[in-house]
Amino acid sequence: MRCPFCGAADSKVIDSRLSTEGDSIRRRRSCVECKERFTTYETAELTLPRLIKSDKSRAVFSEDKLRAGFLKALEKRPVSIDAVDMAVKGIVRQLIATGEREVESRLVGEWVMDALRELDEVAYVRFASVYRSFQDISEFREEIERMEKQSDQQESP
Ligand SMILES: [Zn+2]
Repeated sequence: MRCPFCGAADSKVIDSRLSTEGDSIRRRRSCVECKERFTTYETAELTLPRLIKSDKSRAVFSEDKLRAGFLKALEKRPVSIDAVDMAVKGIVRQLIATGEREVESRLVGEWVMDALRELDEVAYVRFASVYRSFQDISEFREEIERMEKQSDQQESP
């Protein structure tokens, strides 16, 4: 760590302690050249990419909003909050895994639909009808038809 006083390349750590929140490490350092002391903070970088909306504006990804969206779609459905949390965490992981600084929000929408389809088909249709209605109505109709066909097959073996 370069000294902020004299610019010397070397400093030695004289004390390090975990912050009270436990999410960063505070280090007291002493410059090997000028002996000045300074403090550095170390945090794990877990930056989520920003979302590019369809109008090209950028938005900060919000886990809370995502969870609220799931809960809205799953209103009165027999799906546990644990399952919702798992789905939300899964999407956050996928988002981090892209390694991108910006991701199209449409992509996140697709992940949400994939997750909902696994959780509950009714919720999936509910979400998809809102989400896809302005984007690709024919795709949505095909999806409904596909699902109707499937449930017909289940009813009459
Ligand atoms: Zn120095």
